[in-house]
Amino acid sequence: MDDCIFCKIARGEIPCKKVYEDDDLIAFHDIHPISKVHILLVPKLHIESLFECTSQYQELLGRLLLMAPRLALEQGLTKGFRTMINTGKGGGQEVFHLHVHVFGGAAILEKT
Ligand code: 5GP
Ligand code: ZN
Repeated sequence: MDDCIFCKIARGEIPCKKVYEDDDLIAFHDIHPISKVHILLVPKLHIESLFECTSQYQELLGRLLLMAPRLALEQGLTKGFRTMINTGKGGGQEVFHLHVHVFGGAAILEKT
């Protein structure tokens, strides 16, 4: 998608603090972190949200979730982490390209 911010990040057109990349996924630090560690885990394929996910994306969704604990551990979140997938305006989604928030660390306790 031409004007999608996460597609632009995935294409390398907008800089990000990347922590992981493979053929299908990219992960980078959220620009406005809500905790000490706050990573966005994003499929490179433009899918707007979970609402648009059909069974054809089952494997991709599995890969996405399996990557979360790996990234969390790499970021030092050995005691645990939180995941969040906002779906639709009613779910607080602001960027309409599917992504998983992976976050944790001391500041998370101040936010909840
Ligand atoms: P949502 O509310 O859609 O689940 O979350 C979107 C997230 O993307 C927000 O936490 C916001 O801070 C982050 N974000 C928006 N634009 C950018 C950007 O250009 N770069 C990075 N790294 N994060 C962004
Ligand atoms: Zn996109």
